[in-house]
Amino acid sequence: MNNSLHFSTRLIKETLGVDPQTGAANVPVYLSSTFHQKDFDQFGKYDYTRSGNPTRDALEEAIAALEGGKRGFAFASGMAAISTAFLLLSAGDHAVVPKNVYGGTFRILTQVLGRFGIEHTFVDTTNLDEIEQAIRPNTKVIYVETPSNPTLCVTDIRAVAKLAKAHRCWTFVDNTFMTPVFQKPLELGADLVLHSATKFISGHSDVVAGLAVAGSEEIADRLYFLQNAFGAVLGVQDSWLLLRGLKTLDVRIRKSADSAQRIAEFFAVQPDVHQVFYPGLADHPGAELHADQASSGGAVLSFELENEASARAFVNHVHLPVFAVSLGAVESILSYPPKMSHAELNEEEREQAGIGSGLLRLSVGLEDADDLIRDFEGALANVHDQKLVIVRSGD
Ligand SMILES: *Cc1c(COP(=O)(O)O)cnc(C)c1O
Repeated sequence: MNNSLHFSTRLIKETLGVDPQTGAANVPVYLSSTFHQKDFDQFGKYDYTRSGNPTRDALEEAIAALEGGKRGFAFASGMAAISTAFLLLSAGDHAVVPKNVYGGTFRILTQVLGRFGIEHTFVDTTNLDEIEQAIRPNTKVIYVETPSNPTLCVTDIRAVAKLAKAHRCWTFVDNTFMTPVFQKPLELGADLVLHSATKFISGHSDVVAGLAVAGSEEIADRLYFLQNAFGAVLGVQDSWLLLRGLKTLDVRIRKSADSAQRIAEFFAVQPDVHQVFYPGLADHPGAELHADQASSGGAVLSFELENEASARAFVNHVHLPVFAVSLGAVESILSYPPKMSHAELNEEEREQAGIGSGLLRLSVGLEDADDLIRDFEGALANVHDQKLVIVRSGD
């Protein structure tokens, strides 16, 4: 019955926690680290909050149901979820990872996990041959992030999962950009879904959190062991805030994605915009594949202006978005990847990843799309004027 309901209905059903004692319509915030045991020998379901807490459980059950998985896990941040997932690997194991993976994931692979003997190869995951060639006898996981950050490259989840199964390895998918509203990696064959719930799931730039959903009992059991052992669990109040964020996820991300589509189309025809990266645009190289595995281009797009000076002029003349790192919030967030999310790459590495010095990333919020477009028109006019000034002064 539950699966025949629309996603927006399920979001509400899965997060509604009528309290049997009081009838409260919301899951109570169980701020308790420990739990009284009624029996000397037989302990109850809960004993200590690192191991389990009823508020966190409600969130973990909700995300598991929404992603269509066996069991969900809430962590103190997206990076805590991703790091704990990589602890499923052991010394001598190998991971195939996208070249343009999220910077924090790049950092733990290159600077932490290597010290413990966990190896990795970076590949262009949009190219299946490159993935296949990187697989070794000790490969344990193929890691996918689609669409990728900040150039929105699309990887074929079904094909990667098939390839992984043929080589007896797992597929992990970072589903932060799409959320289960638009993309369900487990249904496409993935084994584990990861989220920075700091982004769309929380949705209000007020929580740092991570979620993981296991597609099999085997991974679920092992991940539960690691979550409790490593202890990077999400706090109780933050668990409650995520349950609250989830309730409006569908309306928020759909409205933002509709606006993002319009804004991408607007930027695509502006003479001062060299390129727009958005999988909802027909000329995006991954558009067809994306439409096959996800139901929307999402709420994040990037666009390339001429150079750093143009990007600076644009940022200095917009009024509505905040200029900040992060994404997936009610307010639009404009960011400059070369100095923010991808500051750790040198210029050559950035160029290779397609991150030009004029690239800006926009996470579209809930402002009216017409207001945003008008704001961007004004900022682009300033970019244009500034270019004329430079040309003239160069005469
Ligand atoms: C933000 C982000 C992360 C890291 O999550 P935190 O909550 O910041 O730890 C991982 N993957 C993607 C795609 C992200 O955008």
